[in-house]
Amino acid sequence: MSTSAGESSIDPRLLFSGPDAPDEADLYKCVHCGFCLQACPTYLETGLETESPRGRIALMKAVNEGRVGATQSVVKHWDLCIQCRACEVACPSGVPYGRLIGATMSQVESKRELGMFGAVASDIALRRLAPNQGRLELLAGAARVYQRSGLQSVVRGSGLLKRLSPSLDHMERSLPDVPATKFKARGQVVKPRDERRARVALLSGCVMPLVNGPEMNAVVRILTRNGVEVVVPKDQACCGAINSHAGDLATTRDLARRNVDAFLSTGADAIVVASAGCGARMKEYDHLLVDDPEYRDKAAQLSAMVKDIHEYLVELPFEPPEGELNYRVTYQDPCHLANAQRITAPPRQILRSIPGVELVELSNAAVCCGAGGTYTITEREFSLRVLDSKMKAVKSTDADVVATANPGCLLQLKLGAQRDGLPVQVKYVTDLLDESYRKRP
Ligand code: SF4
Ligand code: SF4
Repeated sequence: MSTSAGESSIDPRLLFSGPDAPDEADLYKCVHCGFCLQACPTYLETGLETESPRGRIALMKAVNEGRVGATQSVVKHWDLCIQCRACEVACPSGVPYGRLIGATMSQVESKRELGMFGAVASDIALRRLAPNQGRLELLAGAARVYQRSGLQSVVRGSGLLKRLSPSLDHMERSLPDVPATKFKARGQVVKPRDERRARVALLSGCVMPLVNGPEMNAVVRILTRNGVEVVVPKDQACCGAINSHAGDLATTRDLARRNVDAFLSTGADAIVVASAGCGARMKEYDHLLVDDPEYRDKAAQLSAMVKDIHEYLVELPFEPPEGELNYRVTYQDPCHLANAQRITAPPRQILRSIPGVELVELSNAAVCCGAGGTYTITEREFSLRVLDSKMKAVKSTDADVVATANPGCLLQLKLGAQRDGLPVQVKYVTDLLDESYRKRP
């Protein structure tokens, strides 16, 4: 059954099958206790069981047992999951919800019939753009021309997009500012400032080098200042997080294999990742490639080497910064750092080490901001609803800066600050550390 442009339909007879079906051992671990409910942003917003982890798992079980078909309305409850994995942290029974929803979405995506527009858009975004750095660079170049030529102001001022399609208008307003400075991921090796303490391979990522070039350069400055030689593997690829969030595990595995080859050949001591979502994805390559006899062991080796930048700096340990910043800072835990990697203390430790920084905790720091893979596009309305709650909490801190550690969160929080007219800057934790270092070279 095919539907009109952009809509999708699901074969209601969908049952889980094949190697990527949710693992029954994982599925039946859930004992329905409900401890996860209050951690779930979609449950907190709606109060509905079907929008809770427990409800979504119950639907997975029902489809697995053939009691219900995966109709459009069943799938909608899984689609609304932000995949933030806060429920995993709250669960006393150790239900690996991230694995379950990942497998479920891959089953759904393989059977989802998109309308013509949806199929083309999905193919372009997931299989032709995300895995191809050259094409992403061209797209970023075009976006920069659009932003700097004045065309963006004309389009925004005219209100035309809003009249044509609120979704398109939202996408346009969410476009990150493309800076002139890119981070060149072309096989460079950056020597440490003083004596070498370690040698790491750095994931440059797919979108970060284009929209966060200055921030990636800051990461390299921080590492080299701390005696770390930085290798940026030439043949590295996107980590695959966007594809796996959308249920496209085949492309994710291709990208993972490319990264295994590119990173292990560097002979580095560790692989450092400055984006929480990418780090979480790479730390789980071992599970992703467990059925691939050629790559299984190499993937496990790579996953064991991956370190989030904050985790790495604290373990190093990093040189305490001396430049005074005088900011009131609050910190938003990226879900893929706090929930998927269980890293919450190191970013705060870095912030507290900066002279003049006053760290004020956000009341809902552990709750998702509403970003998450392609969620801001596919579930725009709900993403903004979750963002509303986040921005209220940000406002109440009276902070000058919201710090975070993931590009999706950074963009979402910037959108929230701009939309609500809040006089708050949104920065990476590493930007603040770099700023402090640069005040006292
Ligand atoms: S991953 Fe997040 S949004 Fe999805 S069920 Fe778990 S807590 Fe809720
Ligand atoms: S996922 Fe865990 S916390 Fe949630 S209902 Fe099931 S067992 Fe309880």
